[in-house]
Amino acid sequence: MKQVCPVIKNEIYSMDITGIGANGEGIGHIDGYTLFVDGAITGDHIEVKVIKTKKNYGFGRLVTILEPSKDRVEPRCPIAKQCGGCSIMHMKYDAQLEYKENHILDALERIGEQDRVKLEQKKEPIIGMDEPWFYRNKVQFPVQIISGKLLIGFYAKRSHRIIETPTCYIQDPYNEEIVDTLRDFIVENKISAYDELKHKGLLRHIVIRKSHHNQEFHVTLVINGQKFPYDKKLVEELQKLERVVGISLNINQEKTNAILGSEMIHLDGQEYLHDQIGDIKYQISPLSFYQVNPVQTEKLYAKALEYAQLSGQEVVYDLYCGIGTISLFLAKQAKHVYGVEIVEAAIDDARINAEINKIDNATFYAGKAEEVMPKLYKEDGIKADVVVVDPPRKGCDATLLDTIISINPKRIVYVSCDPGTLARDVKILSQHGYQIDRWCGVDMFSHSTHVETIVALYKKD
Ligand code: SAH
Repeated sequence: MKQVCPVIKNEIYSMDITGIGANGEGIGHIDGYTLFVDGAITGDHIEVKVIKTKKNYGFGRLVTILEPSKDRVEPRCPIAKQCGGCSIMHMKYDAQLEYKENHILDALERIGEQDRVKLEQKKEPIIGMDEPWFYRNKVQFPVQIISGKLLIGFYAKRSHRIIETPTCYIQDPYNEEIVDTLRDFIVENKISAYDELKHKGLLRHIVIRKSHHNQEFHVTLVINGQKFPYDKKLVEELQKLERVVGISLNINQEKTNAILGSEMIHLDGQEYLHDQIGDIKYQISPLSFYQVNPVQTEKLYAKALEYAQLSGQEVVYDLYCGIGTISLFLAKQAKHVYGVEIVEAAIDDARINAEINKIDNATFYAGKAEEVMPKLYKEDGIKADVVVVDPPRKGCDATLLDTIISINPKRIVYVSCDPGTLARDVKILSQHGYQIDRWCGVDMFSHSTHVETIVALYKKD
């Protein structure tokens, strides 16, 4: 018999929110039928308008909050609802942390097929921020001109429509000065903005990166062209800003959502940003990955070092190593560290960073981890006692996991920005004898649904 859907599209119902989904959406049930509602959180009693129904679940729009959850707060940012960045700013910070920890637990239990009770025993409390505001060291503003009006801001949720952001509560306030200067400069010089539908126009994005340690800023303009006729003027204008220490162009002429192209043109000041985490100094090229929350990064790397349990005798692989950040942290307490990373500019930085810090027991290779590591193992015989991985969201490559398993390290430290792929990979590792020793979440992205996780796995002799 065909099951009848208990809700009708466009009708309004009242409902309790009893859970939160992976993208921060509230989850509730009407006669056993699941509805997902953006902007609602656990504990809210709401009125919801049903906007889409599928066989087993549907989507609703939050109409009214009849009774707010105890975890609900007024978002500090007035445009939090429209902007795609801080999708859970309406949740108290402690509740955000609890939500993120549960999200990791659920993933490890369901996808990773780990025992929930054991996971709870192995858990260390999620590491939150003391002050979860103005924390990011990187911002990428798209630029558009709509009906003659220049827009510089963030994309609205699930769209490429720009919302202007007078103050962003997770970015450094100094960005506002940089953007104001650039806004005047663009208008005065009548610089065209990129139109992604027509694939025309010059200026695509403004990328600003900050050195937390030095409180310095590096500005890159991403252009759809080989030349920028306003080079000199740009430099003159930005030089007026005391804390801007470097200015570059990036060329991106592709029809793509990727913000940066592969070619950089250095215009003025420092070509690289210089920062320090713990007692290690780093040089960062504009093309290299660099963690966006410097305060939490230091805690994350300290945890990685703790979880690696090094005595000074170990050979360590640091896979997906970026500019060698974790590698250099580990090198101080290891016999030798081998770092592998796909972006060549990042490996150039990593080698220089080893030199800057007088670390001579770290070697870096550019290439795909899944290709370089098997070669290092099979051709050069480099085994490892400890393997650290810190892959992008899609997780570790399957062949890489195979190689790690065949090298048979005593410990694996998995740093992950996606609980789903982390859990998928933990399942594979646990099928090959690895057990979770300890794990914890680290809140690198306060007010968004993203969460970093760090897991220590070990193999019994
Ligand atoms: N551990 C570093 C970087 C982590 S981000 C840090 O904390 O800063 C993930 C890194 O993996 C990025 O630098 C990205 O360029 C790199 N990467 C992506 N795919 C890769 C692959 N197949 N092989 C090696 N590195 C890869």
